[in-house]
Amino acid sequence: MQIKAKNNLGLVFFPAFDWSISPTHPERKERLLYTKDQVLEEGLLDIEGIEEYNPLVATIDDVNRTHICIPDTESIISKPHLISAGGAIKAAELVMQQEVDKAFAIIRPPGHHAFRIVYGARGFCTVNNEAIMVEYLRQKYGSDLKIAFVDTDAHHADGTQNIYYNDPNVLHISIHQDGRTLFPGTGFTDDLGGPGAFGRTINLPLPTNTTDQGLHYALDNLILPILDDFDPDLIINAAGQDNHYSDPLTQMKITAQGYAELNEKLDPDLAILQGGYSIESALPYINTGIMLAMAGLDYSYIKEPDYNSKIVKQSTKITDIIKKRVDKLLSSWKKRDEIDIQAKFNTQDYYTTQHNIFYDTAQIRENQQIKIKICPDCSGLMIIDSRAVPLSIGETRNIILPFDVCNECRQLGYNKYEISKSDFNYIYLQDKKEDKLLTNH
Ligand SMILES: [Zn+2]
Ligand SMILES: [Zn+2]
Repeated sequence: MQIKAKNNLGLVFFPAFDWSISPTHPERKERLLYTKDQVLEEGLLDIEGIEEYNPLVATIDDVNRTHICIPDTESIISKPHLISAGGAIKAAELVMQQEVDKAFAIIRPPGHHAFRIVYGARGFCTVNNEAIMVEYLRQKYGSDLKIAFVDTDAHHADGTQNIYYNDPNVLHISIHQDGRTLFPGTGFTDDLGGPGAFGRTINLPLPTNTTDQGLHYALDNLILPILDDFDPDLIINAAGQDNHYSDPLTQMKITAQGYAELNEKLDPDLAILQGGYSIESALPYINTGIMLAMAGLDYSYIKEPDYNSKIVKQSTKITDIIKKRVDKLLSSWKKRDEIDIQAKFNTQDYYTTQHNIFYDTAQIRENQQIKIKICPDCSGLMIIDSRAVPLSIGETRNIILPFDVCNECRQLGYNKYEISKSDFNYIYLQDKKEDKLLTNH
């Protein structure tokens, strides 16, 4: 009898055959090739309702809608970045056009460590595929689309958090190995979003050796209740798989079954591949499990060859730490709209923060000052002054007008763009509503 998927599922593969950071780098094409073999071996593409689609090619404008690449986009990215981002866009379009119920983009190079400002690659990422996809959707289908990211990669999704930190229509949840024990060293429970989107950033750091038990405790008691409240139009799983027990870069203990069950409960519209470096022992099983779960099919037989039920048990100490953090985050989520923003951020005009950003891949050190205007009428004009060493560009000014910008903030942003020309060699203005990026050089 022919098996039929309960949910029609679109798969978009892009292994980027001709692109790598270096030939022996852990982020390489074999990450996807072993998965593709497993998908064929398990006969997934013979199942009625599971179809493979080709990626689109994203445009430079798609990148510029999301990022400010310095000095310019063309000199920083290459064609595989545009196809990887285009793979995410294709997956989203399949869902928006109702060609499928759900879609999974199995693409590389990955994206979630790419910030809004980009000087090069960090954490193996140059541009943020899932953010480029979301900004494309909001431009095409309306900026009032409510989006929820659930990033399950073992590393904190610092890039996606940076892009959406002050965006009220995007909920960003990242669960990851505690930043005190892993790159990029961030993602703690006190980071809750900027003054225009307070409460809509949620970070749950997990202790090393967290198993499926801890992951599912967080899912059942924190993530699913928050998603219920937020009621998004789209749920996106940024499906990083480097918290598998066999991953060489991390110290987590998640199994393919644990991942698949997460996708069944989370019921995402879209999944976008992130990290995962246990190329033969984990990725083929996790990805197949995610696909079956998204298609609404039985995944109980998908197990790693060395799977052992003891892996799933975690110490009570780990369970207690996770419970405490979940309780804290849940209580701040419930109070998010009662907060007096001016008192919380201790200012009536601009909320200012300093950030040191290390590009481990490109060996660049960037210092940013981010100023967000506290505005009663919109989420607020943002000004980012940035300097990167050892680059010789000097300090750059970056002005961002959000989708919901009010007239006053818009005017202020354009005025600042003009008057800053005497002080900065490189100035950029990203106007989300008008869908344009201005630059003076
Ligand atoms: Zn990762
Ligand atoms: Zn405003």
